[in-house]
Amino acid sequence: MGLLSLGTPLAWADSIPYHDHVREHGITQFLNIWDRLKNREGDELLWGDEIEYMVVQFDDEHHVARLSLRQSEILAKLEHVVDELENEKEPDAPPIPTFHPEYGRFMLESTPGRPYTGQLKELLTVEADMRYRRKIARRHLNPNEIPLTVTSFPRLGTPGQFTEPYFEPRSEASQSLFLPHEITNPHARFPTLTANIRRRRGHKVVINLPIFPDTNTPKPFIDPTIPWDRDWFPGDDEAKNGAALPDHIYMDAMGFGMGCCCLQITFQACNVEEARTVYDALVPVGPIMLALTAASPAYRGYLADVDCRWNVIRDAVDDRTEEERGLKPLKHNKYRIPKSRYDSVDSYLSMDFNNRPEYNDNPLPINEGVYKRLRDHGLDDLLSKHIAHLFIRDPLVIFSEMIDQDDTTSTDHFENLQSTNWQTLRFKPPPANSPIGWRVEFRSMEVQVTDFENAAFSIFIVLLSRAILSFGLNFYMPISKVDANMKTAQKRDAARQEKFYFRKFVYPQDRAFEIRAVLESCPVSANGSKAGSHAHTPATPSSPISPKVNGNGFDHPHTERSRPHSAEQSRCPSPGVPEFGPIEEEYELMTMDEIINGKGDYFPGLLGVVRAYLDTLDVDFFTKRNLWMYLDVVKRRANGSLMTCASWMRRFIRSHPDYKFDSVISEEINYDLMKAFDEIERGVRREPDLLPADYRSAQALNGHLKPNTVIAETPVQACP
Ligand code: ADP
Ligand code: MG
Ligand code: MG
Ligand code: MG
Ligand code: MG
Ligand code: MG
Repeated sequence: MGLLSLGTPLAWADSIPYHDHVREHGITQFLNIWDRLKNREGDELLWGDEIEYMVVQFDDEHHVARLSLRQSEILAKLEHVVDELENEKEPDAPPIPTFHPEYGRFMLESTPGRPYTGQLKELLTVEADMRYRRKIARRHLNPNEIPLTVTSFPRLGTPGQFTEPYFEPRSEASQSLFLPHEITNPHARFPTLTANIRRRRGHKVVINLPIFPDTNTPKPFIDPTIPWDRDWFPGDDEAKNGAALPDHIYMDAMGFGMGCCCLQITFQACNVEEARTVYDALVPVGPIMLALTAASPAYRGYLADVDCRWNVIRDAVDDRTEEERGLKPLKHNKYRIPKSRYDSVDSYLSMDFNNRPEYNDNPLPINEGVYKRLRDHGLDDLLSKHIAHLFIRDPLVIFSEMIDQDDTTSTDHFENLQSTNWQTLRFKPPPANSPIGWRVEFRSMEVQVTDFENAAFSIFIVLLSRAILSFGLNFYMPISKVDANMKTAQKRDAARQEKFYFRKFVYPQDRAFEIRAVLESCPVSANGSKAGSHAHTPATPSSPISPKVNGNGFDHPHTERSRPHSAEQSRCPSPGVPEFGPIEEEYELMTMDEIINGKGDYFPGLLGVVRAYLDTLDVDFFTKRNLWMYLDVVKRRANGSLMTCASWMRRFIRSHPDYKFDSVISEEINYDLMKAFDEIERGVRREPDLLPADYRSAQALNGHLKPNTVIAETPVQACP
């Protein structure tokens, strides 16, 4: 979550007259940024992750793991600790991390103390930075509390006690049958968001996840843990009146979605055009990484037939009315809106020649007034549509103290809409009064059990983004196919069982040969050899490929980009660029292994392009080999030789002695699972189907490093 504005939130009914005011000034604020910063050039690569944790409290005597609701005390303590660390800081000490509040009162978020830079060797410090943050958090919790990177807590919302302390499941804001008011961050913004989503929608939110049909799961499954006849709130009878579907795990509150944890990556672009290019290229990568990082197969005490959190959050914040959802004719509302505020990206943004208009084949309701204003101001069609699409939504929380703002210095109204459109990618304009440039945030990944994995996926995404820019890669395909992949990605064991649409020819025509030559001369194989086995093989010098786009990369001295800015210029094919063929021939269904590790002689795989990119850099052998210890996880999760976290959890649950093959996750199973997470994270429990056997050697090598320390070039000792 961004900065929390303080103040008094307006009641929903009182806020309605201000909705247009917020939108109008939000656009003014955006245009002020645009006018000042649209030509801003030369920002270097800076990037950072966000890791979310659940604070789990263990009762080892009774074998119970519960969510600790001490967020406020913990954050206050961490703030104090961070201040002290700052005061005692030695010159080469790592930057002191930042901790942030999140929706759930059992959640924490951490970010690096300062963003990472384009120093390639700094990638080898990412895990150490993440571990340092976890260590600080861990040290300042109660002795029986542990910050765990769990995407969804399996027993959130079960009958009885799942939080510490216990609260009755009574919440005016959500009217949930399952979650207490106290599950939500007490800052006024969060209960207000919760209540206003429900009020705007006209009913409680409805989440139905298919239950995993195990051998003893009743068929049909009618959930005995739903208090069907409760009568405390008007919303209480919705479940029995059809909201709760048979054979599904029914959930009814924002907390089930926003109470999930994830892993997000933000990077700065050298200018707005580069941000738009990277944004587009990562749109099709979103569902792929969701499937590959799948880590949440369990909800409200049951095993689900899906592996990911995405649709849970999507439905948990779906504030659309019945008219907007197309269930009634439009009368009070302006638009039919096909998607929730939390959903996949709806349109590509870039002015690149490769961005054919046909790829934007999703329905895209826009706020016509906003669109016209942006166009009249001189903005291009694509960016205007992007913003005008975000601005079909209503502001969900308005603070009475914040209604009148100085639009030249504030972006609060713009952010009100921007930050409550939770999509797979976020295009982040520079904040007012800050040195920060245009950024892109990659938001689809689920958080992993260990920081080794979290670092691996972060490193992979940032390198992939550099490969995209350096080679001018083209990942475009119809955005409706990306949405088809979003559905597929959440299926059980999608990374091994399903196929996804992906573009077949990703290299620019005129460079494919050159890039393939680099791939073939590469010393570290993307398909095979484990890091370490090459320890004594001398590195062959890599063929230099000058970056096609002089954009933001690792260790390339920054140069001004030559990419054209106007639509007219960039829509013109350069001489020699062939005409486009039929769109349907540009993409095909591929397995996860093919998408990551390559297919045939025509598709290099996302890891293949990362490898080719690394080979264009002047990287010493040891750095490259150590990077491959991380990238190897990505490779192996994709080729199936390692399980996704979700598959591993499902197997753990189903092979637990307390499991009755009825889809139920008991207190005992939940406790053992959370214990196992902690042991895996600390490295005392080995799970060779989840993590490479030798992953601890990367930690041993890199774990003690402080950012900016030169890496000692000693061979890695393989773990016994
Ligand atoms: P939000 O919650 O709004 O998505 P956060 O502030 O929690 O954003 O996290 C933003 C991430 O971006 C952090 O990892 C931070 O290190 C990183 N970051 C900070 N400044 C920059 C910058 N100028 N460019 C790119 N990333 C940045
Ligand atoms: Mg967050
Ligand atoms: Mg954040
Ligand atoms: Mg956030
Ligand atoms: Mg209560
Ligand atoms: Mg974020």
